[in-house]
Amino acid sequence: MNIILFGPQGSGKGTQAETIAKDYGLYHLSMGEELRKEIKAKTPIGKKVESIMAKGELVPVEITSQIAIKISKLKESKKGIVFDGYPRSPEQWAFMNKNFKIDAAIELDLSEKESVNRIASRRTCPKCGKNYNLIYLKPKVAGICDVDKEKLIQRNDDKPKEIKKRLEIYHSQTEPLKKEYQKLKILSIIDGEQSIEKVHTDIAKILKKK
Ligand code: AMP
Repeated sequence: MNIILFGPQGSGKGTQAETIAKDYGLYHLSMGEELRKEIKAKTPIGKKVESIMAKGELVPVEITSQIAIKISKLKESKKGIVFDGYPRSPEQWAFMNKNFKIDAAIELDLSEKESVNRIASRRTCPKCGKNYNLIYLKPKVAGICDVDKEKLIQRNDDKPKEIKKRLEIYHSQTEPLKKEYQKLKILSIIDGEQSIEKVHTDIAKILKKK
């Protein structure tokens, strides 16, 4: 089973994708996280994408295609993949549609205002990439990652100017893909402003029918 989870920044895609992946034995492919791994490892891809990501822009389609194919060949992705933050543009969707059979595309709907609020209070572990929120998803010890005990940071691309750019890209390039999902009858929309537990229950209901 392959699932696309999409929604504006702060909609909780990453948190939900992590749980779904565990529940259904799927591989959680966070495209942003895969790219950050490349940067950390100073690979040729990492060097190419670092400045693009710092500005909050989309990295070239050749790179996301390469990563999607690489992950799909990993053993543990056998049962399927939860795609988090991919596809984000018509070109990426065209590639995905050719190479993967998608069973469900689930939108976590969120207002612009709530998205900006959530991102402003998001903090991230620089080591494992786990996200927290100062208001509704606090770490056990303030400012420290539960898993790695690293000091949490605010990502550079979560700062106001960069987040404005990322939301613009979401609305102009990612959101319109809904039409394509609708045509294939795989689109479901969930209210992303509900609690984490309620969103998870709603996703489980949709997947039960697949
Ligand atoms: P995220 O972790 O999902 O917020 O993504 C962080 C950044 O990684 C984005 O602002 C883009 O620069 C890059 N990125 C993530 N996913 C994609 C994608 N599907 N296509 C192009 N760039 C991406």
